[in-house]
Amino acid sequence: MREVIPGSLKRLSSVRAFALDLDGTTWLGDRLLPGARALKGLLDARGIPVVFVTNNSSRGRDDYVKRLNRLGVATHPREVLTSGEATIAFLRRHRPDARVFLVGTPSLVREFRDGGVSLADDPSGADTVVLGFDTGLTYRKMRDLCDLVRRGAFFVATHPDIVCPVPGGPWPDVGAFLALVEAATGRRPDEVIGKPGPRMVEALCERLGEPRDRIAFVGDRLYTDVRMARAAGMLAVLVLSGEAREDDLAGTEHPPHLVFRDLDELRQRLA
Ligand SMILES: [Mg+2]
Repeated sequence: MREVIPGSLKRLSSVRAFALDLDGTTWLGDRLLPGARALKGLLDARGIPVVFVTNNSSRGRDDYVKRLNRLGVATHPREVLTSGEATIAFLRRHRPDARVFLVGTPSLVREFRDGGVSLADDPSGADTVVLGFDTGLTYRKMRDLCDLVRRGAFFVATHPDIVCPVPGGPWPDVGAFLALVEAATGRRPDEVIGKPGPRMVEALCERLGEPRDRIAFVGDRLYTDVRMARAAGMLAVLVLSGEAREDDLAGTEHPPHLVFRDLDELRQRLA
């Protein structure tokens, strides 16, 4: 454990809600990371709200809920927030009349429909395009998306990650797709929803219902998790069980408040 910013341990004891990143923090591939199950159990027992947060919009919330429960982490649907859901929340709040051409997986399409977003089956009927982590991406979809972007449609990406960390990966993710769209059209998205952007914070705070300075955000990446938590005024907790290494802390632009080896060391501190 390391207290990078003085006074942060004291602040940890007054936290009223936790947001936990998934990949590299809660699990890695199909393996739960040390302390994930026990920490969730401890927070549940104390009545402290928890939300698991992920930028990965290739799967719907229900997929994550099922997987967490299968791994022995008791999780309610309200306790998962994906960048896909945050995109739906953004559209409903800021562009309620949008007719959306969505490039995404079948589970993201289902989530948008269930979330009350008006989807255009034919790209000619759309005024807004949303680009998600479509693992079934085709040339046809990319061509239609670029046509709409070039003609001035409002352009939203679910998240900025360039690659997705998977065993045997990494795989190209939305950020890599965006490079293709920019090369073809000269445009960047008008909104990028996921971490580290403020729209993800908006959706997270709405879900947790606690003031930002009483929320701890726990993640494994300095330039997304920690950067977003710091910018939003949340307590930024870094775990070293995923991407960031101890060495990365020297000279980083995004120092966390606290560093723990993994969720288990955090749990021991809270117990
Ligand atoms: Mg992560």
